[in-house]
Amino acid sequence: MSSLYIHIPFCKNKCFYCDFPSYSCMENSIEEYLNALEKEAKSRAKDTYDTIFIGGGTPTHLSERQIEKLGDIISNIKMSNNCEFTMEGNPGTLTKEKLCMMKDIGVNRLSMGLQSTNNDLLKFIGRIHKYEDFLKNYNDAREVGFENINADLMFGLPGQSLQEYKKSIKSLIDLGLDHISAYSLIIEEGTKFYELYNNDKLKLPDEEVERDMYRITLEELEKGGYHQYEISNFSKEKKECKHNIVYWTLNNYIGIGSSAASYCSHKRLKNVNNIGEYIDRINKKGNAIEEVIENSIKDDMEEFVFMGLRMIKGISIEEFYKRYNKRIEDIYGDVINKYTNMDLLKIACGNMFLTKRGIEVSNYIMSDFIL
Ligand code: SF4
Repeated sequence: MSSLYIHIPFCKNKCFYCDFPSYSCMENSIEEYLNALEKEAKSRAKDTYDTIFIGGGTPTHLSERQIEKLGDIISNIKMSNNCEFTMEGNPGTLTKEKLCMMKDIGVNRLSMGLQSTNNDLLKFIGRIHKYEDFLKNYNDAREVGFENINADLMFGLPGQSLQEYKKSIKSLIDLGLDHISAYSLIIEEGTKFYELYNNDKLKLPDEEVERDMYRITLEELEKGGYHQYEISNFSKEKKECKHNIVYWTLNNYIGIGSSAASYCSHKRLKNVNNIGEYIDRINKKGNAIEEVIENSIKDDMEEFVFMGLRMIKGISIEEFYKRYNKRIEDIYGDVINKYTNMDLLKIACGNMFLTKRGIEVSNYIMSDFIL
């Protein structure tokens, strides 16, 4: 399995909760950025890929001409026959023409940032679109022929009620999305929400309500025919995101573009965040890697467990042995005993996974797997 991530760091506006490496008001740099990306793709994306993911930022913030250029870059990248090719898109930047172009360059999975179906909430969290914009894009995408569409949803938003959130989920189920990702709001440093929160100007639902929101997510999506395959991800049959599974199973991937991370042959690499610096480094040195960390076996074991426990089926005990030539019980015996006795962790059918109760306190459990 070979995977490629391509980062497009441009957004129309910065959402109030977002700490991703994405920037607004940088449109003047897009052309130069794409030129640099083309050079980096030529030198680093040489495999034949089974999954490609163009994320951001907002890749659909590019103009039609720029998407065409992105298509030229992609045309030099080899894809396997069944390659899952995802591109992220945000309502407010998507048009039917752009959707057609995406289809033409081979995108077969669309991932849309919706976050809520409530227009007041969307405005309050700094999104540039209304629910109606999403609906229009969604219907256009279906018309253009997209058969695999994800929407991102958020809960625990300021002023969000349980009822309102339940309505959001039900609307998405009725639409027939293929995949839904549901994340709770986390107040991250450096965001507008962080500032408001620290000045007591942001009223968040209390913890109990947030837990209920997560429970509702599980219940409603299960009733709606989605199966949970990761803590925050739900899909119709055979519509799991293969690209993200590569991350959670600690398999190799290459990331290109500013801020992009790679994991290859037990090494973690990371490109510079700053767009200008990225362009400069690619043009002068041919790469923009600012950090190389060689994972020790211990690091790899930790990451394999830590990431793998995010998946509902957990990690394969045999795979752990194959990779590290050590029995998982010999490394993590005490932690495994502790949590299996508390019924938060289970071993069955050759896999180790979190129980339903374990998932609710997953962060706490996972931190215990750090060696
Ligand atoms: S559109 Fe996405 S990447 Fe851009 S600011 Fe909003 S959340 Fe962040």
